[in-house]
Amino acid sequence: MTVRVGQGFDVHPFSDDPSRVLVLGGVQFEGQRGLAGHSDSDVAAHACTDALLGAAGLGDIGTMFPDTDPALAGADSIELLREAASQVRAAGWEPGNIDCTLVLDRPKLAPVRDQMQARLTDAVGAPVTVKGKRTEGVGSLGRGEGVVGLAVAVVTRVEEKP
Ligand code: MG
Repeated sequence: MTVRVGQGFDVHPFSDDPSRVLVLGGVQFEGQRGLAGHSDSDVAAHACTDALLGAAGLGDIGTMFPDTDPALAGADSIELLREAASQVRAAGWEPGNIDCTLVLDRPKLAPVRDQMQARLTDAVGAPVTVKGKRTEGVGSLGRGEGVVGLAVAVVTRVEEKP
């Protein structure tokens, strides 16, 4: 069996547009300031997508889902992650698991952590875990300027015997 690992990183700034909804791990946070970006700006889903694609050697999210594509404006990033996982399998790799860390001070993630994990796990078809990390007020993230998502993914491939 061949095992590969991939990493993903994403950052989006908070938006001043009141119509933007904060979406993290496929969960909407009502009443919270949303993140700016072309899609729904779900940094958890984006970091998981990049980690999976990197592990399988399939490039990155920006190449597979260009932010210049008008069809992807406001896209549900959970569906982009689902499509990426499907392409990973089509390339002969099986997602093992993904571990994702979200870096932000507000809002608190604990109340919806299980929900985020369930949505991401459903999209990938393999276990996805989510951890929230506060910055304790340090730097741009501590000033609430944006949210960072980090992820590590493992994929495996069973080599056929000759
Ligand atoms: Mg992104």
